[in-house]
Amino acid sequence: MSHAPTPAETALPAHSRVLIVGSGPAGYTAAVYASRAMLEPVLIQGMQPGGQLTITTEVENWPGETEIQGPDLMVKMEAHAAAMGARIFIDTVTRLDLKARPFVAELDSGRRITADAVILATGAQARWLELESEEKFKGFGVSACATCDGFFYRNREVVVVGGGNTAVEEALFLTKFASKVTLVHRRDSLRAEKILQDRLFKNPKINVIWDHEVLEVQGDEQPLGVTCVRLRNLKTGTEQTVPADGVFVAIGHAPASELVAGQLELHHGGYVKVEPGSTRTSIPGVFAAGDLTDHIYRQAVTSAGMGCMAALDAERWLADHHMAGAPAPDEAEIPA
Ligand code: NAP
Repeated sequence: MSHAPTPAETALPAHSRVLIVGSGPAGYTAAVYASRAMLEPVLIQGMQPGGQLTITTEVENWPGETEIQGPDLMVKMEAHAAAMGARIFIDTVTRLDLKARPFVAELDSGRRITADAVILATGAQARWLELESEEKFKGFGVSACATCDGFFYRNREVVVVGGGNTAVEEALFLTKFASKVTLVHRRDSLRAEKILQDRLFKNPKINVIWDHEVLEVQGDEQPLGVTCVRLRNLKTGTEQTVPADGVFVAIGHAPASELVAGQLELHHGGYVKVEPGSTRTSIPGVFAAGDLTDHIYRQAVTSAGMGCMAALDAERWLADHHMAGAPAPDEAEIPA
């Protein structure tokens, strides 16, 4: 992936009026808006620059693009944010102290930055089945990313677990390589969009096993590798074994809120709580956008919309506290 023209050469400033954490659609959109508000935002990309869209293939629901590859879309967003003046850094925030202002972020590189306002856009991470055998074969036949690992399954049989958009998209993508794709879902209907379901049911390489859960991933020890998956019918209790060289787990995502757990109010199993209709979190000056806070829509376009809202909320908050155009503040406490 190409990167913004400046990050490698530009030294990280000691202080920023707006610090954006995360580089998915929410983070980059917040960076575009905050840059245009002359807030000179600093954006820290995190472990996966570009976020979840960098591990998808075709995106067909980004307005203005009938079809675009996820990684290409994110390269464009990064370039857009950089062109507007955002300072983008390939680094990860490892610790964020929101107890007092200015807020303090420590980075994986050992650097440190303070900020008047923070926009959190750390997104979400893939969920796992939490089986011991899944853990054992991770990287040796068990994956959560078909676009990353699908290529290894040319003319092999694979199982995809899940019934949402991700599972159906991964199953469809895997038919490019695999000889057979079995989708295992715990219910008798999918929650994926109808257009994707239609493609799935029409694809002769895909077989769906309904009402089943995965009990165990089985395989060889030497070399370590998957050979089959043991399933249980949730209605009858009967078990069956399905041959598989690869297992792709696509059962949804969990918000990446570890950085702020214990500091910000969370709800619905870890999503950052924001005031309805805004991106304001439980700490004044801290805003959250995208999959980190959205447990309902979770779309690239809604994340981008929330990124815009977060930048506008931050701009207003800074102006209300006389910091919109201010230089680096002293350590004085600012009233909420
Ligand atoms: P999702 O929509 O939350 O679906 C997760 C699926 O995994 C559900 O079918 C769920 O079953 C199943 N599941 C959850 N926990 C499970 C477990 N422990 N064992 C077995 N199955 C389990 O997640 P997603 O597919 O990753 O999508 C996340 C969001 O991103 C959605 O809003 C989706 O629309 C969006 N997305 C959009 C696109 C697109 O527009 N092209 C592509 C990918 C994702 P139940 O159905 O029984 O709950």
